[in-house]
Amino acid sequence: RPWNLLSPHRSPLQSRHHNRDARTNSPAGRTSSASVRMAPTAAEQHTRKAVGLAARDASGHLSPLAITRRSTGDDDVVIKILYCGICHSDLHSIKNDWKNAKYPMVPGHEITGEVNEVGKNVTKFKTGDRVGVGCMVNSCQSCESCNKGFENLCLGIIPTYNLVDLDGTITYGGYSSMVVVHERFVVRFPDTIPLEKGAPLLCAGITVYSPMKYHGLNIPGMHLGVLGLGGLGHVAVKFGKAFGMKVTVISSSPGKKQEALERLGADAFIVGKNDEEMKVCKCFRSPIFSTQIGL
Ligand SMILES: [Zn+2]
Ligand SMILES: [Zn+2]
Repeated sequence: RPWNLLSPHRSPLQSRHHNRDARTNSPAGRTSSASVRMAPTAAEQHTRKAVGLAARDASGHLSPLAITRRSTGDDDVVIKILYCGICHSDLHSIKNDWKNAKYPMVPGHEITGEVNEVGKNVTKFKTGDRVGVGCMVNSCQSCESCNKGFENLCLGIIPTYNLVDLDGTITYGGYSSMVVVHERFVVRFPDTIPLEKGAPLLCAGITVYSPMKYHGLNIPGMHLGVLGLGGLGHVAVKFGKAFGMKVTVISSSPGKKQEALERLGADAFIVGKNDEEMKVCKCFRSPIFSTQIGL
C-alpha cells in the first residue's frame, strides 16, 4: 500500500530519499510543500464502506449511518457481522447515562460473524471461520496486564465503541455490517454454538464466567446462590448448572420463579423481599454470586 512508504514509521533511508526527491522536483522559487506527500490521515486509511445503526443523541433512537472501517492491516481480521447481542451497557451508552457519549455512536460489543479476509501476519484465523468480538478491540499489548492475558485491565484498552482508537478515529461497534479487528481480540466460535444464540457470551457470558472460574465457583456438587436474574444472572445459572452445581436464585421479582426453575433449570428460588424466605437466605452458607452493583 502506498502509504506504507510515507508513514511516520518509514525508515531513515526512505525519509532521506523522499525529501531529496521533493526538493529535486520542486520548481525554483516555490516551496516544496506542494510536492511533499503527507502521511495519509486515519480517515484516508478507512477505505472500507459499511453501514451501522447509530444513536445521534440521547433520545435512545437508532438510525442507519454510513461508516467506514480501516483497510486490512497485517494483523487484522475482517469480519462480516451476522449477529450482535444487546447489552444493557449499550442502552446506558446511547442514552448518555455515563456522560461520555460521542455521537454519532454505533453501539454493540457482543459480535458474532464470519471472517471475510485476514492480514498477512494472521495465523489464528482464515476466511470463512466463525468468530466473535467482545468488549475490546485493542490495547497497548505490551504492559504487564496485557502480557498476562488481562488486556481488560490495560490502561490503554480500546473498547469496541465510543472510544478513540489508536489511529485517532472513534470506534464503532457491532450494530453494523462489518468490522476490522486485530486478531488478538478475536475469538473462535465453536461450531456447536449457534452464532445468534451465543453472541451474549461475548460480554454477559465472560463477565460471569471469568469470576466463577477464578474464584472456584465451578465445582460439581457445590451450592451456589445467584443474586439477581437479569442479563448476567441468567447466564450465571446456566454456567452453574453446566458445572454440575446446585443453584439457588435470589431475586426480588417473584414473577421470575418459573423462568428460573423451569427454563433455566435452577434448583431453588428465593424472593429477596420476602422476610421468611430471606431467613433461609441468611442461613445460606454457600457462595453467592451477586450480579447487582453495590451488593
Ligand atoms: Zn456488555
Ligand atoms: Zn496493556
